[in-house]
Parts: sequence; C-alpha cells; structure tokens
Amino acid sequence: MTNPPFDPQQAMESARHEFGEHGGVNMSIEASTTFTVMTPDLMPEIFAGQLGPNEGGCYLYGRHFNPTVFVLGRMVAAMEGAQAGYGTASGLSAISSVIMQLCAGGRSVVSSNTLYGGTYALFEDYLPKNCNISTTFVDIQDLDAVKKALQDGAKVLFTETLSNPTLRAADISALATLAKKYDATFVVDNTFTPMIFSPIQQGADVVIHSATKFISGASDVIAGIICCSKSFIEELMDLHLGSLMLLGPTMDPIVAFRLSLRLPHLAARMKEHGSRAMFMANKLQDFGQDVVYPGLDSHPDHELFTKAHNKEFGYGGLFTVDMKTTERASKLMDLLQNEQQFGFIAVSLGYFDTLMSCPGASTSSEMSEDAQNTAGISPGLVRFSIGLTGSVEERWNQMKKAIEQC
Ligand SMILES: *Cc1c(COP(=O)(O)O)cnc(C)c1O
Repeated sequence: MTNPPFDPQQAMESARHEFGEHGGVNMSIEASTTFTVMTPDLMPEIFAGQLGPNEGGCYLYGRHFNPTVFVLGRMVAAMEGAQAGYGTASGLSAISSVIMQLCAGGRSVVSSNTLYGGTYALFEDYLPKNCNISTTFVDIQDLDAVKKALQDGAKVLFTETLSNPTLRAADISALATLAKKYDATFVVDNTFTPMIFSPIQQGADVVIHSATKFISGASDVIAGIICCSKSFIEELMDLHLGSLMLLGPTMDPIVAFRLSLRLPHLAARMKEHGSRAMFMANKLQDFGQDVVYPGLDSHPDHELFTKAHNKEFGYGGLFTVDMKTTERASKLMDLLQNEQQFGFIAVSLGYFDTLMSCPGASTSSEMSEDAQNTAGISPGLVRFSIGLTGSVEERWNQMKKAIEQC
C-alpha cells in the first residue's frame, strides 16, 4: 500500500486555527518577555524545564520560549510534516544554531559546494576559525563524492533543496539514505522551495528556512525557521547547552504574528510564482536565451525534480539567464529596471515584485573566483525571482525589448 502524496497546504490548514484572545480570527500577540509564576514553590521546577506550559507550569522567559513564536513554529512544522518547528531571528541564525548544536566539540560538516553566500562564508571561514568546525564541500549531485566525504565521520550533511544560484536540485531521498548509513544528521535549507519540496517527508532530519524570502513574500522582515524532531528542538532550547537559548537568536513575537498572516496564502503565491516563471522561462528559451529553470525539459534535473516535488506547486519562482559577460548582465538589469519597470535590481528573493541580481558580484561574492567556477557561476549570470504583479504577457514584452537592446 502506498501513502497518498503529502499535501503541505492541507497539513498546514489543519494546524492553523488558533483563535485570538478575544475570539479574533487571527492569533493574539503575546508581547510579554516574562511570565507570572502563580506560586513561588513552582519556580524551581519551571526553571528546571520540568513544568512547561503543557505540564501545568508556565512559559518562563521570552528568549527561551514565546507562545506566539511557538504557534508560528507549529504552523510551519505542519507545512513541512515535521514534529516541531521554531522561529529564529534570521535564516542564517537558524543555520548557525543548528550546526553549532550538532557539531559541538569540533565535529565536521559535509556540504554542497553551491550555497547561499552567507552560509558558504559561515562554513568556509567563520566556523573553522571560531568553533573548530570544519566543512568538506562536495558536488551534491555526485553521490559517490558525498559518500566518500561522509566516510570520514562527519556529523552533518548539509544541502539546499535547490542550489543557489545554479538551480540544481538535490536528490533528497538518496542523500537521506546516505546520511542515515553514515550516521550523519541531514540538514536541508528549503528556502527556495517552500511547499514545493517536503524534505522531511523524504528523510531529512532538519529543515531550515530563511522566512525572509517566500514565506514573508514582502521583503519586510528578516526571519528564520527550524523544523525537526521534538527532541532536537528541546536540545536547542536547553537552558545549559542549547544554542537557541544561549546564543539568543530569538524571533520577535510581532514578527511571528506578521508571518502567521502570510502562511495561509503561501500556497497560492508559490503556485503563481511558479506558473509565471515557467511562462517566462519558456519564452526566453524559445527566444534563444541561455535560461536555466527546473521546469524546462532542458534542465539537467528536470526529471528528478518532477519525481520528487509536490506537483500542484510547480517549479518555483527562480530562473537564471546567462548573459555571458558582466557588462551584458548589467545592461540587461539596467534596462529592465530603469526603462521597462520590469523589476528591481536587488539581492534576495521571494518578493511580490520581481528582483534581479548578478550573483557573481553580489550574493555569491563571498566565494573566490575559483570556487565560483567550480560551482558553475558564470560572471554574466542574472538571477530572477519572478514576482506576482502585472500581466505576464506585458512582462514578457518588457523582457523581450530589453534583451533586444543588449
Ligand atoms: C537568504 C538566505 C539565507 C539566509 O537567510 P537570512 O534570513 O537572510 O538570514 C539562507 N539560505 C538561503 C538559501 C537564502 O536564500
């Protein structure tokens, strides 16, 4: 018997309802940083973590555990099909907290060599220098290389579902099997593909999001999410050894509330980002451009992606066009922003309008030229995060006019 495919939208819907304090349709914001202990004799047990809000005790302190942040975590955990979720101050703090927790005492990481620039710098520079945590970078498509690297006893296998900015899809199921075999914790950054991929359903142990991107959808908050087992969340929140507790990357409850208003329409937005990106990528390809989009048959991982994703959510909002030289890339972006009003030249992604950037000179500039070459980042590569505004036909006309002038 096979299980029906996981439906992240349905899963989140069933976890969503949390009435506000006065019966409001939205949940309430608990802004207090500290919570009243009803009788003094309960304090020691509450402090020892034995009497939480579910055991007749209460919340303790906002850096540790906030009810509003907790409800948001529950919604996102449901979306990922995870036991538990927790909000953090940023995507990068979610990543650093998880890695520092798992690799305490100088354990090592095996990671994809194509990563968000900040994550790359964390692994390549910060963690070895400051925490004695080293990383072996591998081509995540090359399962033999991953296997070989894991044989040295790494504690963590790390990848992005869709690599940034090369848009190669990781084979989550196969990597999960390898991680299990070598006793590594498999951590997946699912920032580019919320709802589209459900890595925990395919064997990942921890899923991380930069909620700054699609989950926010409005480029107005910096936030992160960790989804994992209940026991790992408890470890992260431990009063003596937990990195969430002691490094303090706390999500503000008001941010959690704002994000809770975006989650219900994340599904609709992801579908729309995907269908618009698909339309544009097809047009660009027919127009003879060197476009990379996982929805195109021409994409090397099209089949893998198609087999593994949650079908109704499409292929995501990002594609790249290789303009070959930095000059042509700059000219295209300049025309698109300043003459055509097609979108904005800005880093980041998942915004309701189109954002475009040249990764070699921006989000991947933490990587050396060599590392960029190895990762397949061409200097003329332009990354588009396709927005939801305007008519898609008009957007294509703007794109076409700009390309004709380059
Ligand atoms: C932006 C981003 C991050 C970092 O998230 P912040 O919220 O900016 O800290 C991590 N991974 C990916 C894939 C990202 O795009």
